[in-house]
Amino acid sequence: MKATILIVDDEPLNVDLLVGLLAPLYEIRVGYDGREALEILKKIEPDFILLDIMMPRLDGYGVIEEIQKDKRLKEIPVVFLTAKSDHESIIKGFELGAADYVTKPFNKQELLVRVANHINRYRLQKELEVQKEFIQAIVDAQPNMILLTDGHEIKFVNRALLEFYGCRSLDEFLVTYGSLSKTFIHNEHFFYPHTNETFFEWIERFMKLSQDERVVSVYSKQESSVRALSVSVSLFRSQEYILNMSDITQTVAKKLQLEDDSLHDRLTRAYNREYFYQNYKLHLQSALSSGNKLGVAMIDIDFFKNVNDTKGHDVGDYVLQELVRLLQRSIRHTDRLVRWGGEEFVILIQIDGRMGLQRAMQHICQVIEAHTFEHIGHMTCSIGTTLYEAGETIEQTLKRADEALYKAKANGRNQVVYN
Ligand code: GH3
Ligand code: MG
Ligand code: MG
Repeated sequence: MKATILIVDDEPLNVDLLVGLLAPLYEIRVGYDGREALEILKKIEPDFILLDIMMPRLDGYGVIEEIQKDKRLKEIPVVFLTAKSDHESIIKGFELGAADYVTKPFNKQELLVRVANHINRYRLQKELEVQKEFIQAIVDAQPNMILLTDGHEIKFVNRALLEFYGCRSLDEFLVTYGSLSKTFIHNEHFFYPHTNETFFEWIERFMKLSQDERVVSVYSKQESSVRALSVSVSLFRSQEYILNMSDITQTVAKKLQLEDDSLHDRLTRAYNREYFYQNYKLHLQSALSSGNKLGVAMIDIDFFKNVNDTKGHDVGDYVLQELVRLLQRSIRHTDRLVRWGGEEFVILIQIDGRMGLQRAMQHICQVIEAHTFEHIGHMTCSIGTTLYEAGETIEQTLKRADEALYKAKANGRNQVVYN
């Protein structure tokens, strides 16, 4: 498509000359004074404006001032073509935003080349502008949150990210949060940067994780709730990172629930054997590192069969649940209660030694005996307990506790035996 040029000059001879020169190459519009030029500019956006300075009604300076105030027009190259050749006029023209200045009389070839150059540059710039808007529109249309950073500053974020954080602009986001990692919430299930860790440090650690571990916890203003975001990172132009984040809260919640379910007993919500085998080593390490030992206690309800036989299975279930509540209240936060099976429980205890262990178990035995269970009144338990010994397998420890329990039963029940 031909470029459009607006020629503004009050001298018909000049206009004729310019039209003769430019019309074969361009679409031409003519304004015979400044006012007329502005009227034309209300209707069209030319690619180039050739502007005389001295004109009736409104001069060229007045015209360019109006153009500069108009966002739609201000990028159009304006070239003064005038008889005024003093430095002051030329400088004033440039200061007002002129792209170029040509004095009369002019050389035709030179003017043609200048016009062509300005138009080319303007059209290229317009095209880039359109491309930029196009890319921005694509990125803004993504449901995922997208952020571009060089590690020092955030260069770009898309609309989804701003909406998630309840910000209108990147500046507002930066003023509110400072950086992306400052929005992360500390939570054992998710990735969290260490204190004072730089972007490059945490991102390196983060990228070593598998994709399903690259999840952060963040508060969303839009949702008014804490969300889980899956983050994928890609290197961009070698110096920059694109972070692409999607909200996977529901999937994560389900996964955590499933994980939680798989480690707990359904009836009592105590831990199950699966939990025990997955975690006893951690408890052992934790006990040893705090200068303690790991104790294991096996607890079995005395004559529990009677409860089922005389009161029914539902009451039996209730008693198991009530016993778990009682035990959970009686152990310390570093201890773990596991339903081993049936009416048998194991407690993992971090304790300073044998005496402490026996005392703690005696206490539990007494608490149970003293408790009034609805429907059945009182009942008792027998407990066999032992300490983990260096170098043995956990099965060996459990076996010793089991033997101790057997002795407690054989000795008349409702007692603690250490083995
Ligand atoms: P002892 O003092 O020798 O331990 O006698 P006991 O009756 O407690 O021992 P036994 O192992 O013979 O009986 C355990 C009973 O626990 C048998 C079973 O019906 C009951 N039981 C196991 N799991 C459950 C459960 O989930 N719900 C209910 N209601 N009963 C259970
Ligand atoms: Mg029993
Ligand atoms: Mg039993």
